[in-house]
Amino acid sequence: MQTLRASKCGLSTSRLPSSILDVIDSLTKAGYEAYIVGGGVRDLMLGLSPKDFDAVTDATPSQIKEVFGRRCKIIGRRFELAHVYSGRELIEVATFRAPPKKAVTSATGMILRDNNWGSIDQDFVRRDFSINAMYYQPRKGQVLDFCNAMADIQCKTLRLLGDPVLRFEEDPVRMLRTLRFAAKLNFSIAPEILDVFTPEMTQLLRDVSPHRLYDESQKLFTMGHLHQVLPMLIDFGIWKQLFADIPPQITPFIERAAKNTDQRIQIGKTINPAFFYAVLLWKPFLERCDFYLSKGVVAVEARAQAGMDVLKRQATRTIIPRFAETFVREVWEMQSRLLNPKPQQIEALSVHARFRAGFDFLLLREKSGDETTQGMGEWWESYQNLSADEKERTIHQYNRQRTRKRRKSAEVAEAPESVVSDATEIEPLVRESESRSNRRSRNRTQSGSGGRDRTVMKNGAESGVDTDHPILKRKRVQRDLAQVTFGPIQP
Ligand code: ATP
Ligand code: MG
Repeated sequence: MQTLRASKCGLSTSRLPSSILDVIDSLTKAGYEAYIVGGGVRDLMLGLSPKDFDAVTDATPSQIKEVFGRRCKIIGRRFELAHVYSGRELIEVATFRAPPKKAVTSATGMILRDNNWGSIDQDFVRRDFSINAMYYQPRKGQVLDFCNAMADIQCKTLRLLGDPVLRFEEDPVRMLRTLRFAAKLNFSIAPEILDVFTPEMTQLLRDVSPHRLYDESQKLFTMGHLHQVLPMLIDFGIWKQLFADIPPQITPFIERAAKNTDQRIQIGKTINPAFFYAVLLWKPFLERCDFYLSKGVVAVEARAQAGMDVLKRQATRTIIPRFAETFVREVWEMQSRLLNPKPQQIEALSVHARFRAGFDFLLLREKSGDETTQGMGEWWESYQNLSADEKERTIHQYNRQRTRKRRKSAEVAEAPESVVSDATEIEPLVRESESRSNRRSRNRTQSGSGGRDRTVMKNGAESGVDTDHPILKRKRVQRDLAQVTFGPIQP
């Protein structure tokens, strides 16, 4: 173990937020050891701005609770941790861990329970990479380096502590973390990791809970280096484990959206991570729509069913929370509204809560060469910058062109939606209840058969979706969408 002078590592208390200093000071005052550890120390040493700070101590979770009282909440089962609120910030405080006494592992060696408290020199070996295992005591101005992490920082190398095979088996998510840190820090991956990072090894991710994988996917999407990590996900065979039906191919649309996401993060704009799921799943969604359309299902119903199908299948890998799923389906539904808006609804659409996300999505499609947008991305872009008079004239002009087009075309686009053509109000983008109990009970009354649920077809025939189809079985919580704020619509 070497003790480094913090100032020599580019660390100083002036670069630390008061929240982490408060946590370290309170624990020290109560007689415990306390350090800053993990990404906070690593990023500061690399001259980056840490997204958060984690603390570690010899106090057990219940002792931490005694120190912070109501400001502290103990969370986690597999890894018990304390969440301490300091001002408006939340600091994760972990207790030094020892190797599990009686290994609680799965058949593949994955650690299921790890709550044996230990000492600092037992704790560092439990961490993943050397560069994440530096302990910084800001008041003493010291960094404790147990594994020559400083050398790895200097030569920009990601090195797993211990045997890489064992470490991946213990926690397959470390494979995702390897790619995330390599992309984010622009570090090379040590050869001994590359040797074992095989397609067979990535299969272990199948054992990880889809909830945890969703969280990890979010970290990948929001780290600001999405564009760099995507090809790595494909090359290392992780893509197939994370995304059920998305072909492992970075299409111009995905590439553009990834770059756009990174740029937004760089300039401090908010992003909604579910937006990137909407991008990734767009192709499978369109294909599923075509499937339903080919079966004669009307367009609006085909889109609703396709959306549910695609998200249902993705949930086998990463469980997207319900509100985020609704967001994704709304962004997709917005595409057809924006592509072929009813003239009297144009203004209402432009102020709709989901307009911003839907429009960003449309423009990204258009700019990445998707001609099916028919230039409507640009149309909406210029529409938003017009004065009230100009808007009126533009709508008038659009209406004339639309009528001409509709007259010419024998096949009227999206005909079933024109039933409400006089309405100036926007129909709900996603009908939660329509797709569940209401539709089921309506169909029961209509058919009287009770055995099958029906999807509306153009010719009125049944689509053959059984009542025990998993889509229809999912419980849906009614959510007040107005309460859900999303990144892209915030100024
Ligand atoms: P960032 O917060 O920038 O994403 P981080 O390294 O701080 O990166 P966290 O998930 O916040 O990552 O974890 C804090 C620390 O806990 C890590 O630096 C590492 O030491 C340890 N850690 C986290 N996840 C694992 C894991 N799966 N296996 C071993 N150690 C881990
Ligand atoms: Mg962290």
